[in-house]
Amino acid sequence: MTSRQTPAIIIGIRDYGEADKVVTFLTPAQGRVTGIAKHAKKSRKRFANCLEPLNRVEFFLAPKSRGELEFIQKGELVNSFPSLRRDLKRLGAAAVLAELAGLMAAPPEMVAEVFQTLEGVLGLLENGGPPDSLLPAFLLRLLSLGGYGPRLQACLKCSQEPKAPLYFSVPQGGVVCGPCSRGAAGPLLPLSPGAWKLLRMAQGMEREKLPRLRFPRRQRDESLAIFRAFLRHHLGKPMKSWAFWDKVAMAKEGN
Ligand SMILES: [Zn+2]
Repeated sequence: MTSRQTPAIIIGIRDYGEADKVVTFLTPAQGRVTGIAKHAKKSRKRFANCLEPLNRVEFFLAPKSRGELEFIQKGELVNSFPSLRRDLKRLGAAAVLAELAGLMAAPPEMVAEVFQTLEGVLGLLENGGPPDSLLPAFLLRLLSLGGYGPRLQACLKCSQEPKAPLYFSVPQGGVVCGPCSRGAAGPLLPLSPGAWKLLRMAQGMEREKLPRLRFPRRQRDESLAIFRAFLRHHLGKPMKSWAFWDKVAMAKEGN
């Protein structure tokens, strides 16, 4: 039986039994996949420096029966993003984006684009791109690719261009203006005109241009608070990687 080869970005790894590892990874054709790497703890040859979260690898997968885990025969490292790993804040942003990409890679026609978007932003972080701006801009892009794009163009209730004060309705996933906020479904989070403008701009941009956007700290925090509450509401549970981001972002900013 022939194995098939696929590009992959590793999202998570856990030990399985004495010798094996269970690996969750993102692929451009199948989205998020879980596979088992037999004897991975011992076999340095088959998985040389390969099995680390965020690594971009090539995996060789054996044919499997329906419903079984993919069987990972071999892996080859393509990029371990070494410079990103030396900066905790960039690593924190990468971890959130990788977890979200795994969750958003569901619509089949979007899977390849989700993979390329994650690979692209990991490369930007590796080359010193600012995590404060790349994190909100690419979170928004991944949400849109997964069909969870927030509605930011006009007030959800009156359809007018909203004027300050603006709010974001977490359950409805969009912006409401001050007068409409009284009857809107809550929780409602405040959204400053500056953050709203940046997010609206990010939503209409081509992916190649997203790295040009700069989110000042307040706009970054408002945007992240909105995405986080929105995701928690729709997923029914918090994403694991936010705790790490909180720790590293705060440590660096001294509060
Ligand atoms: Zn309104």
